[in-house]
Amino acid sequence: MGDDIIEVDCLVIGAGPAGSVTAREAARGGWNVLLIEKRPEIGVPVRCGEGVSRELLDMVGLDRKGRYVSSEMDGAKIVSPNGTVLTLGPEIAGPEVGFVIERETFDQELAKQAARAGARIWVRADAVSFERVGGKARVDVIHNNERKTVEAKIVVAADGFESLVARWAGIDTSLEMKDIDTCIQYEMVGIDTDDRFTEFFIGRCYVPGGYVWCFPKGPGIANVGLGVNASMLEGTADPKRYLDEFIRKNPRFSKGRITEINGGGVSVSLPLEETVDDNLIIVGDAARMIDPLTGGGIYNACHAAIQAGRTINEALEKGDFSREALEPYETRWRERLEMEMARNYLAKEKMLQVSDETLDKIVSAIAEYDPKEISTEELLKALSSKYPEVMEELGGLL
Ligand code: FAD
Repeated sequence: MGDDIIEVDCLVIGAGPAGSVTAREAARGGWNVLLIEKRPEIGVPVRCGEGVSRELLDMVGLDRKGRYVSSEMDGAKIVSPNGTVLTLGPEIAGPEVGFVIERETFDQELAKQAARAGARIWVRADAVSFERVGGKARVDVIHNNERKTVEAKIVVAADGFESLVARWAGIDTSLEMKDIDTCIQYEMVGIDTDDRFTEFFIGRCYVPGGYVWCFPKGPGIANVGLGVNASMLEGTADPKRYLDEFIRKNPRFSKGRITEINGGGVSVSLPLEETVDDNLIIVGDAARMIDPLTGGGIYNACHAAIQAGRTINEALEKGDFSREALEPYETRWRERLEMEMARNYLAKEKMLQVSDETLDKIVSAIAEYDPKEISTEELLKALSSKYPEVMEELGGLL
């Protein structure tokens, strides 16, 4: 048993993208940073569709040709319930899905960058408590079965969707069922993929309150998965049933073989109302920063992490770790993400009610036009003259 207290400037809990990028940015300022991860290997097991925007790699400073890139996409295809396909080119889809990555390698690369910048890393290190003592934060960590106490000026809660650290610090992180999607995904081999396009199948006929994705990772290989809104799961039904049904009914997929199964929860909520407190910053999924419409969270996590790193550097420089000193983080990440998340949250709420017939009409109306050639306003006019009832059903959303 080690009774000594380990003192650091910044303790980052969780070595997902949010934690590693925050640790890297803080360590680049020359501070004493400790990044801890409860799993024995960073990034493993993967629980992710691995679709990311073009912007992401540039934002985190990773080369687009790295080993963590599995394939580059030309765009995305949206498939409506009756099979109508809307093809979106890179200028429209790129901000959402530009690459399919190797998440394990991606997470490990970010952690290595943190280490190269000077952060210490402990794996098999599980944070189990949080308290404030004498103006600092104290966290007990079970590291390789040994209990250790770490005292930090600033603790970063980057512990993902199932986050406990913020809750220990007294912050309400609870979610309503309608604000959670339960996801399952298979890696499949021997299927018909469209190697240059990600595909999204939307509509209740595929899955209630969510969508099915197919993100290609090479000829005949793809991540095929879905998210179901937890409020729409009937009885004890589990999302696997919907995925198996989708695959069984679709000859492109039913001939394939499953080589991996993974899954997990994502929040499809608004972000936490407060993401800073005395000695504490909350980043990424732990702060409920996942996009509520797409379920994608890596970009938002990394964007917020960069803002967190910048704020940590300034606070340590000033020697002030109070809530007020950490508040610039709150302003900075909200500036870029908050409006978009609020708009997509409204869209998600609406999508939970929209019928398959309406989705068919929307997709077919948009598919008739080249989105490059038509403005959103013109598109809406066209939609309302062709299907006035759709505009009524969607109310103010469009
Ligand atoms: P995480 O990546 O979850 O990292 C948190 C880390 O903290 C974990 O490594 C965990 O082990 C560690 N940890 C937790 N508790 C402790 C503790 N007490 N002590 C120490 N360590 C701890 N997003 C996209 O952008 N694109 C996609 O295609 C996509 N597909 C998805 C598919 C599925 C099935 C799921 C579940 C999610 C998907 N997401 C996707 C969301 C994306 O995975 C997350 O938004 C992203 O991982 C957020 O990063 P993070 O660092 O905040 O959290």
